[in-house]
Amino acid sequence: MALTIALAGNPNSGKTTLFNALTGSNQFVGNWPGVTVEKKEGKLKGRKDVVIADLPGIYSLSPYTLEEVVARNYLIHEKPDVILNIVDGTNLERNLYLSTQLMELGIPVVMAVNMMDLVRKNGDQIYLEKLSQKLGCQVVEISALKGDNIQKAADMAVKLAQEKQRTMPVHTFEESVEKILASIEEKLGDQVLQEQKRFFAIKLLEKDSKITDQLLSVPDVSSEIERIEKTMEDDTESIITNERYGYISSIIGDCYKKSQTGQKLTVSDKIDKWVTNRILALPIFAAVMWLVYYVSVTTVGTFVTDWTNDVLFGEIIPPAIERVLTAIHCADWLQGLILDGIVAGVGAVLGFVPQMLVLFLFLAFLEDCGYMARVAFIMDRIFRKFGLSGKSFIPMLIGTGCGVPGVMASRTIENDRDRKMTIMTTTFIPCGAKLPIIALIAGAVFGGAAWVAPSAYFVGIGAIICSGIILKKTKLFSGDPAPFVMELPAYHLPTVGSVIRSMWERGWSFIKKAGTIILLSTILVWFTSYFGWVDGQFRMLETMELDHSILAAIGNGFAWIFTPLGWGDWRSTVAAVTGLIAKENVVGTLGILYGFEEVAEDGAEIWGSLAASMGMIGAYSFLVFNLLCAPCFAAMGAIKREMNNTKWFLFAIGYQCLLAYVVSLCIYQIGSLILYGKFGVLTATAFALVIGFVYLLFRPYKESSTLEVNVKNVARAK
Ligand code: GDP
Ligand code: MG
Repeated sequence: MALTIALAGNPNSGKTTLFNALTGSNQFVGNWPGVTVEKKEGKLKGRKDVVIADLPGIYSLSPYTLEEVVARNYLIHEKPDVILNIVDGTNLERNLYLSTQLMELGIPVVMAVNMMDLVRKNGDQIYLEKLSQKLGCQVVEISALKGDNIQKAADMAVKLAQEKQRTMPVHTFEESVEKILASIEEKLGDQVLQEQKRFFAIKLLEKDSKITDQLLSVPDVSSEIERIEKTMEDDTESIITNERYGYISSIIGDCYKKSQTGQKLTVSDKIDKWVTNRILALPIFAAVMWLVYYVSVTTVGTFVTDWTNDVLFGEIIPPAIERVLTAIHCADWLQGLILDGIVAGVGAVLGFVPQMLVLFLFLAFLEDCGYMARVAFIMDRIFRKFGLSGKSFIPMLIGTGCGVPGVMASRTIENDRDRKMTIMTTTFIPCGAKLPIIALIAGAVFGGAAWVAPSAYFVGIGAIICSGIILKKTKLFSGDPAPFVMELPAYHLPTVGSVIRSMWERGWSFIKKAGTIILLSTILVWFTSYFGWVDGQFRMLETMELDHSILAAIGNGFAWIFTPLGWGDWRSTVAAVTGLIAKENVVGTLGILYGFEEVAEDGAEIWGSLAASMGMIGAYSFLVFNLLCAPCFAAMGAIKREMNNTKWFLFAIGYQCLLAYVVSLCIYQIGSLILYGKFGVLTATAFALVIGFVYLLFRPYKESSTLEVNVKNVARAK
């Protein structure tokens, strides 16, 4: 029988770092809470018989948040053989609150005091032996990041699990409370295991509403509660909490000594003074993201990508393949499929891998060093003004890699309306797969102008904030935002390994997609674009005859829809549609459909004809449309799953497409007016839409006032 070690602890205490180190797995480590929503399991390195479960981070075993419910139900029902309680040594006092509760579950507990590298650096002292005595469990000091003592911690946990010694809490509550607990334990009878009785009794005493779901028959403990509340003149939940805090302060007093010098501002505090400053926070954030996109897409990125696109997939690979294919007398159609289909399509997508890796490198660094946690904090301050929670910002941060985990991360938002809204808007942020589209437009059409790539990011954020404000003012989404409690972890320099790993994880999944789903799509696109009817005869087409293809027929069928947006060409229409399968396909499809002309012109840039066909404003409108419209099928699947309701799913997708259409229309029409002085019915429509949009954004928020009126009416009627 395999042993199970459960890693439990506060958010950001380093559970996932330890999990990865012990299992050799690559779970996502983020320097902000809420990353691990579901528990993850892995095998201890070198021990096939030991399973480690990484639980979501929690502050207590009271079910206030979804993470707490997940973790608590796991601990009660799956009864791991041992709990390895990860405690952040730099935040001992707050972390112990959970620890005192974990001890009551009747499961053996080993405590690992993590971040010891930081504790030592700060010059603080933790007396482990005393801590172990006062708590009644084994304690070990570790640094998950540096790998110090982690094997020892795992070994201690395994040994304790094998001994099957449950940890008995040393701590007892005040005598009168203990008496009441004993009487409640008796009432519980046989329906809970002997060792879990104490935990259930305490929860019942605390009037924990969700614990009753776990019981077959709920004993009536109201008389006990009443009795104790009367004698102690406080409600039971506060009584228990206060006792815990009293106990914890006594532990801290005995076992922890803060260094004298530690009283002054830490480096993190100093940085935060600037970074989270009321006035400077947003400009700094904008500057950071601008720099990230500028460097990865415009400078470093373009250089490498140009080379991959023009040289590797232009001058080196295709001619080489062509030579081989000609040498073996390959059939014409197959040669076409390989060169004009696969190499042109998949090659176009792969050409952007370098840019993507640079972007992912930056994002991994920002996440791991602790800056992104500040961003969520800054955003919360702003979001709150509009009745939104900063909690909605975390899915968005995750969404910069891929929308699917981003949408899934919205699970931690308790408020149902906020969650739905977050699910709807998360995919507006440019994910990794949208990056090639951005880079393509920025490079091919705007000659690598520095503002294009960062602007795409800000359009995404803008869409999220505006949608939030507008939706929040409708009946569907009104209501107070969920509270957002978040601590700011200390800044630290990420290790090279973890940043590279995170970059590679994301980059690799992209390359894998290029080899599977995008490969299949390019084959389909190639077939439908290189076959068609010419003069009533169905046959393979020459490159100059693509306008007769099946795909052209389909594309032309609904290209008119996008004409008002400035790119009603069948090729861009088709590209946008194939983007629904995977966003990289947009570039792949354009690669097939425009790729051929490059040969015709005197070695002109590969994307030159694309730029000519769209024009600048059209191209920007195309970019924005693809950024905001319905995401790829995988992300739509995630939206469907998380909404768990077809109507809501359709509403979300409909909203995204509508918003994308309206914004692109306004960009193209008003842009054309400004740059070329073009004016028409559609320009007027665009202005009307802008006015409508501004109205929705700024109209007063009525709900609370009507509520007041109703209350008054009721009062008068009485
Ligand atoms: P979780 O929320 O408990 O899963 O925490 P994570 O494993 O995601 O870690 C949170 C942050 O703390 C990350 O930035 C880690 O790199 C960092 N971290 C984890 N363990 C240590 C440690 O021992 N020392 C230091 N300095 N940082 C650590
Ligand atoms: Mg984690």
